[in-house]
Amino acid sequence: MALKGLDIFKLSPKKNCKDCGFPTCMAFSMKVAAGAAEISKCPHMSDEALAKLSDATAPPMKTLTIGKGENEYKLGGETVLFRHEKSLVNRNRFAVLFTDSMDDETVNNKIENIKKVDYIRIGEEMKVEIAALKYSGNKENYIKLINTVKNSEIKVAYMLICEDIDVLKEALEIVKGENPIVYGANKENYKEMVELVKADKLALGVKADNLEELYSLVEDIHKLGYKELILDPTSNNVKEAFTNAVQIRRIALKEGDRAFGYPSVVFANEIAKDDKYMEVAISSLFTVKYGSIIVLDDIDYSRALPLFALRQNIYTDPQRPMRVEPKIYPINNPDENSPVLVTVDFALTYFIIAGEIERSKVPMWLAIPDAGGYSVLTAWAAGKFGGSSISNFIKESGVSEQTKCRKLIIPGKVAVLKGDIEDNLPGWDVVIGTNEAMELPKFLRDFNEELRTAKA
Ligand code: SF4
Repeated sequence: MALKGLDIFKLSPKKNCKDCGFPTCMAFSMKVAAGAAEISKCPHMSDEALAKLSDATAPPMKTLTIGKGENEYKLGGETVLFRHEKSLVNRNRFAVLFTDSMDDETVNNKIENIKKVDYIRIGEEMKVEIAALKYSGNKENYIKLINTVKNSEIKVAYMLICEDIDVLKEALEIVKGENPIVYGANKENYKEMVELVKADKLALGVKADNLEELYSLVEDIHKLGYKELILDPTSNNVKEAFTNAVQIRRIALKEGDRAFGYPSVVFANEIAKDDKYMEVAISSLFTVKYGSIIVLDDIDYSRALPLFALRQNIYTDPQRPMRVEPKIYPINNPDENSPVLVTVDFALTYFIIAGEIERSKVPMWLAIPDAGGYSVLTAWAAGKFGGSSISNFIKESGVSEQTKCRKLIIPGKVAVLKGDIEDNLPGWDVVIGTNEAMELPKFLRDFNEELRTAKA
């Protein structure tokens, strides 16, 4: 047995250990062997045993922490290649590139764009998380650029992209307290780079001309005892970059080779070569496989909406459906004469229905009760979207104070609930809506017309 003879088995078992949190050493060891507990939790391990076991039981892909405070993010730590196998744990982060060759106007525009594109979607903040600050030859301008971005108060972590050690030393002084990424270790400078970052254990970006050289370079860095790395699979063409990214992740997770067990950084801006739409397409590709940081030329809504939504879909637990908050949503500026439409809190259903109501231009109160995050028929079958739960929600939500209209439209697929809801909700007229969302705009316009005619 691989662990036999190591110090861990010579220790006396204790109950409810306050250090490791397990009742016995054996229980702790079993968890460590399964990769579910960190060996360093036991303070009684000898340094030698700790070193041997840490390597043997380390997860196949390292988790790195970058940034500070509200801009702190975890990268890597994945255990599976595909979302459907388990779930992916640390979402990729988007960066916007700044260089010292950019004029003030360009830098300020990018800062303003980062501030502007910051919104909440299904409870998650959608924004650029990293400012990638690239040195392109003018030290004075580079230092000024870092100060400008730092003083702009955009909420980001920093990645310094620079291969010149002397320039880096000065640049690091400005953002050292922010736990930045330092990118630019290559086969010529890696020793100095490690020397520069090891005291603060900063994440070090590693680049090479091809995958074989990258592998050798990581091995050389390992020999220096440094293991806080981010790998760059980027190439000039998308096919090679994608192949590299997939190879790196497969080698780490399938073959357990920890030389490639690190997060990655992909420069989508460089591959796309000033083509904004190509940049979105390439970034989508690496959001799915396997860019941990994806660098964009800039951010705007045409980039953000597809990329952030894709990331949210990929990095949510497939076992847990995405839900919107149960409440009353006003759509198209409803007033005291507007009817109420009810559907479930499954995010996909909400967005489709809300979109179709917007398309109809009919003012409407959209009621979203707690339906367990399921679609309409599933929620109904699971007992989460029934006559009593809908009518209780309508009573408790206070919508009857927001509108005098007592028409409640329900999804056509649960027409069977009409009688039950009317019994529980005296004074309300339950109207059976459409089976499909796409039929809603016409249905709502006709319904609104009928209401107006009846009133007249
Ligand atoms: Fe055993 Fe170490 Fe846990 Fe104490 S901390 S119970 S010695 S494994």
